[in-house]
Amino acid sequence: MEHYSVDYVVVGAGVVGIAIARQLALQGREVWVLEAAREVGSETSSRNSEVIHAGIYYPQDSLKARLCVSGRRKLYSYCEQKAVPHKRCGKLIVATNEQQVDTLGAILKKGQANGVEGLEIISQPQLFALEPELNALAAIWSPETGIIDSHQLMVQLQTDAENSGAQFVLNTPVLSGEVNISGEGSRSEIELLVGKEEPFKLTTQCLVNSAGLDAVALLKNIKHFPEEHIPHFYMAKGNYFSLPRKAPFNHLIYPVPEEGGLGVHLTLDMAGQARFGPDVEWIKNKYYPVESARMNGFEDAIKRYWPTMPQGELQPAYAGIRPKLSGPGEPAADFIIQDETVHGVKGLINLMGIESPGLTSCLALAEEVAERV
Ligand SMILES: Cc1cc2nc3c(=O)[nH]c(=O)nc-3n(C[C@H](O)[C@H](O)[C@H](O)COP(=O)(O)OP(=O)(O)OC[C@H]3O[C@@H](n4cnc5c(N)ncnc54)[C@H](O)[C@@H]3O)c2cc1C
Repeated sequence: MEHYSVDYVVVGAGVVGIAIARQLALQGREVWVLEAAREVGSETSSRNSEVIHAGIYYPQDSLKARLCVSGRRKLYSYCEQKAVPHKRCGKLIVATNEQQVDTLGAILKKGQANGVEGLEIISQPQLFALEPELNALAAIWSPETGIIDSHQLMVQLQTDAENSGAQFVLNTPVLSGEVNISGEGSRSEIELLVGKEEPFKLTTQCLVNSAGLDAVALLKNIKHFPEEHIPHFYMAKGNYFSLPRKAPFNHLIYPVPEEGGLGVHLTLDMAGQARFGPDVEWIKNKYYPVESARMNGFEDAIKRYWPTMPQGELQPAYAGIRPKLSGPGEPAADFIIQDETVHGVKGLINLMGIESPGLTSCLALAEEVAERV
């Protein structure tokens, strides 16, 4: 069996793994990115809302709050610098009943505490001027929210990484690993079994586990990793439906958040096409097809803020799966970035539960990881 040795190994070429590889390569480190699929970014990173989140909803001082706000600022300036298609179109979080109007106040406070710029509550007449088709009593206006072409972002990040020497090894899953601690106080070495038809061994001093939906499963296959640091893992599918014509909105429209997600919202892609979703469907196994039977639930949710929506026109579009560290009914968990100070294994960094706002946070997550390695 072939045996290779590389200083830094990143598992998973989603937007987060690619951004980490780029950051490490820019610092002059030798990096390989191992990706199970035949192409980069084919899982959650290409199955999301492509929204650049402002950072409103997350508990103050959480990783999600901190990395979303700083990641968003970094992402806008990166997109401007590298001409990655994006649009700072702004978003409205709408209250459709009196109870939700009270909730808006709490959401606004949270966002302001997180340092989100420009948030304000706007009244019904102001809303009507912005979006005449919208039915709502009041809304939060978030001018910093935007949309991005996530594929172009990944292409650009990968180009930067490769230009700085990172190697992307596709169709090459990491199957298992073993931590070898070589003497007191010295570095541990991680040996990986890698590949499909002709597996090979790969030794590294630094492993970044950025395997998204499989990050927790991968950890279970790393011998000598302390079990007590393997979190519970859940999956919540988010289905999307699209409208085969232009919707009469110019901003992103979000209801007040629901358990497990942000509610069935309206987002626009870079071409102005509207899509609705994601809902929250707890699942046990990965399953991407969108069942058309869910359309009625979508129509009910959308009609609360767009009462004149044409009936029966929605079409099943696509779905993504949220890697969750909290189950149904539990409070939302934060991102986990686990390093030696937590689990005691030198040179191993695990990223787990990187659900939304992971796309927005990718550059900040990458800097955070690069600081810790
Ligand atoms: C429905 C939905 C909507 C979302 N909307 C937004 C949004 O609007 N804005 C936002 O900021 N965020 C959003 N997110 C979150 C965002 O999409 C994710 O946080 C981000 O894409 C995670 O990227 P990643 O690189 O961690 O994971 P992934 O993209 O899942 O990449 C992980 C990669 O690891 C590979 N892999 C797995 N196991 C192995 C192995 N053993 N060996 C080698 N490779 C392996 C996989 O093939 C995959 O390519 C959304 C997520 C969902 C599900």
